[in-house]
Amino acid sequence: MKKLQVLHFPDNRLRKIAQPVKKVDQEVKDIIEQMFFTMYEEKGIGLAATQVNIHKRLIVIDVSENRNERLFLINPKIISLSEDLDSMEEGCLSVPGFYETVSRPKTVKVSSLDLNGEKIEFVANGLLATCIQHEIDHLNGKLFVDHISSLKRNRIEKKITKLKKEGNLSSRKDTPNYKSAI
Ligand SMILES: [Zn+2]
Repeated sequence: MKKLQVLHFPDNRLRKIAQPVKKVDQEVKDIIEQMFFTMYEEKGIGLAATQVNIHKRLIVIDVSENRNERLFLINPKIISLSEDLDSMEEGCLSVPGFYETVSRPKTVKVSSLDLNGEKIEFVANGLLATCIQHEIDHLNGKLFVDHISSLKRNRIEKKITKLKKEGNLSSRKDTPNYKSAI
């Protein structure tokens, strides 16, 4: 299977709003498989279709230690968010090597479609809740750096642009806590 190319901030294509999937057909299933392959290859814990320049509302996630608990979301919707917030250090495959603390609701109730096109609902907490919100942001053209100060965001943008020009952006994947990149 071929790894899909991950777009990097500040690429404008990361700002596109993804469209809902009309039918869960073979094409959608194939995209999900390619996204899982790409996420595991990139050692990420989540990937939104937007990040691989596919503007459909599709997300893949695996927050397990052993990398064997696949979770995919099709047309995900947030039904409710807790008032309690959680602060976590977030990274992103589209912002390689940069980590910033972001506050988000601790618990999220979401709906999604399963592979039969049936609607399912579930509640997520902790890292999974953070991951789901981070990925749904991607589908709406939003990045975790939009949750931090513009000063920090501009600094990251400058550094990434410089690293890209020098051809050194991909080497940043090897940072120790890269695993948490979503
Ligand atoms: Zn991300």
